[in-house]
Order: sequence, then structure tokens, then C-alpha cells
Amino acid sequence: MSLAEVFDRVDRDTSASLERLKAYCRLPTISAEKRAQPETAAFVRQLLAEVGFEAREYSVEGGPPVVFGELTVDRAKPTLLMYQHYDVQPVDPLDEWRHDPFDPIIEDGRFLARGCGDTKGNLIAQVLAVKAWQEAEGRPPINLKFVVEGEEEVGSPHFPAFVHEHRDLLHADGATIEGGDHLADGRPRLELGCKGILYVDLVCRTAKVDQHSSYAAIAPNAAWRLIECLDRLRAPNGRIRIPGWYENARTPQPEELRYLRKTAMKVDDLKEYWGVRSLRGGSDPYRVVRTLVYSPTCTICGFVSGYTGEGTKTVNPAVARAKIDFRLIPGMRIEAQLERLRSYLRTQGFDDVEIVPHKESLQPSAISLDERVVRAAVEGARDATGQTPEVWPWSPGASANAFFNEQLGVPSLLGPGVSYDGSNYHAPNENIRLSDFRLGARHVAAMFARFSSSPTP
Ligand SMILES: [Zn+2]
Repeated sequence: MSLAEVFDRVDRDTSASLERLKAYCRLPTISAEKRAQPETAAFVRQLLAEVGFEAREYSVEGGPPVVFGELTVDRAKPTLLMYQHYDVQPVDPLDEWRHDPFDPIIEDGRFLARGCGDTKGNLIAQVLAVKAWQEAEGRPPINLKFVVEGEEEVGSPHFPAFVHEHRDLLHADGATIEGGDHLADGRPRLELGCKGILYVDLVCRTAKVDQHSSYAAIAPNAAWRLIECLDRLRAPNGRIRIPGWYENARTPQPEELRYLRKTAMKVDDLKEYWGVRSLRGGSDPYRVVRTLVYSPTCTICGFVSGYTGEGTKTVNPAVARAKIDFRLIPGMRIEAQLERLRSYLRTQGFDDVEIVPHKESLQPSAISLDERVVRAAVEGARDATGQTPEVWPWSPGASANAFFNEQLGVPSLLGPGVSYDGSNYHAPNENIRLSDFRLGARHVAAMFARFSSSPTP
């Protein structure tokens, strides 16, 4: 089999695929507004059927359909499962878009439209890779499955139940999950899992009603009380003060660090982009990326108490509320960390602070560099781009890896994909670079070949 011929087909069919991506992005599938869901599910089913997949929509109680497609070439060959989502984020603030977010355009080597990076472009590039194999060799070198859901951007409320119900359908030897950024120089980045997230509200009530602030001399103040509590959670250097918090966190492996040492992260670009003076980890890219990846975090996402409007209002608030997200490292578990938080606040005497966990929490999960799916993605990146990809042991964000790794027993990674660090996910002017789209499709095509040949460890 000739990968050069497959790449050639990818290049030749790229413009037709971009037209297909335009049609896909014209569907305004904002899941938060429940828009265009049935027609987008039908579009995806059709897209998969056109390249020979046995594709169908699975109805999901209370949610939009999940599209599943399967292409079996040879039962003796391994099977790769690809997860994407067909929904997109809302488009506000609309006046910051240079173009209509649902009228895709191509300009200066970029494709602009809501959802092109997150993740409609990924699906079209994957389908392009399948087509290229069919044209060059008659069929792909492995068995393929797609699962495409429509509610990822609102926290996938029905996907876990779908996974649970359709374990057999989703069985595979490895999985790729959305993601797949490229660096400024075009090198792909692969992430072998994700951090988890434990999201809680901390609510402190010190009185039945607010008081006139002249009574502050004798009455408790909920805002001060909650601030004292928050101050006990985290040291100024970012270290979380809760006993045992780090106990089960996976420690850096030499092989992981070998990849991170070669990181192409640009610390100055990041500082300028955010408008910050310094980053934890200093100015050395390796130390910054190592800190980013391996540090659990405790973040005050919001804090509300008392009067916050125009002018003055003298009030001693009875209630204060903080929204806190804890990012967890693989090895940690949401339930155990929540219990540690509870017992810590109790022993510190904060019985007046209520912990309200949110159901949007996600477990951390990551696989090792030795997994077949990882080797195939890394080698495939070299075949497609001639360069070693950037490989992170996990993403600093949260994703669905735990569903695949743990519930299904299918090792999963984030990527390959078609976006880049400037894709403006969830923001106005979402875009992808045409060069990343073409290389992303080549990467997927090469990964199929490597997945077919690399031995299972
Ligand atoms: Zn998203």
C-alpha cells in the first residue's frame, strides 16, 4: 500500500471537502438553544453513508440523536473509534464577528465559521481521509467506527447513558476524541487524556438577613467569613492546602518529560496574548508547560456577596457565594477529593460553609505512551508532516476520556484534528487554517496505516 498515493488523494479532494464543511457549518447547531439538531444529525448520517459506512441515528431520551457509523473491512484487523460532536457553541457577542458565523467563508488561508474548529472540521477531515484510502486502495486498512453526539457543548448530559447502553456497539481497539490542535509552526499536538474537573459552589450564610453596615462592629459578615475559608484552600504559590490532596496524582514519567522538554510553547506570546506580566513556571517553556500539565488547581471562578451595583449601599451581607473549580490530575477521583474538601472544612471549623457540588464534574483520565493508538497517532504525525508532534500526557482541560478508557475499556487520546492555538474556540471569529485541515486529514490517513501495523503492546 502506498501512503504517498493516499496523501495525493487527500490533497486533490481537499477543496471539495471544504465545500462539504461549508454546508455542515451552515447548519446552526447551537445545542444550548436546541437549534437545527435533527437536520444536522441527518447530515452527519448522510455524510458517513456516502463513504460506505453503515450509519444510523440513535434516538436518545430527552436529547438529540447520536449518530453512529461503522465500516468493517476485515474482522481480523483492528478497529478505531472516532468521537466527534455535531453541536456548536452560541455565537454571542455577534457584533464581534467579522462575518455571519453561519455563512462560512475562506479568506487569507483560513476557513471561518462557528464550529469549523470545534469540531465540524475534524469530522470532515476524517471522512476525507477515509475517502482518500478508498480511492487509492479500495478501502481503509482498518475497521472504523464513528460516534457523533449533539450535546457536547452543554456538558453531554445524555452521552454517558448512551455509552452505557451501547457498550458492544462502541467496542474498539483504540479511540480518538475531538481535540487536535496544531502549533504555530504547523506541528500537531496530541494529548493522551485530560485533567478532570470538580466544580462546587461554596455558600456561607452568617445571618438570616442583611444588616445596616453600622452593625458590622457586632455582627458577623458572610463575605469576610467566606474569604477566610477560601484563603485556607490555597497557598499564594498555588499549592492546595487540603491534606492528602496530591496523594493519588500521577507523577511525571521520564518518557513524558522527554516530549515536554521539546515543547514549542512560546511563553512570551502567551504573556502578551493574555496581557500578564509573569507565568508560574517562569520564562522557561519546559517549566511552564510542565507546571501547566502536572499541577492540580483550585480556582475562584466567581465570588458574589452584598451590594455590587453603582454608587454606595452600606450593607453587612448575610450570604456570600463562591464558584470554585478544582482541576484534577489522572489518578485522582472526584468523589475522594470532594470528601477531602468536606472533612478539611469541617476540621477547620467552617461548618457554616455549605458545599454544593455541580453535576458537570468530569473524571480525569489518561493512557500511556505505549498504547497502540498513541503510537499510531505519533508515527502517523511523522509520516504526514515529517515532524515529531508535540505530545502532552494529558490536556489541561476536561474531556470525555474517562468514558472511553474506563466505561468502555477503549484507550483514547485527543487528536488528531484540524484546529490551531488561534482557532478561537467558543469565541467570535472561530477559524481553522487550510494548511492544518489538509495536514490533519493526512495525519488521520497515516494514522490508519500505523494503527493497522503497530503491534498491540
Ligand atoms: Zn467546545
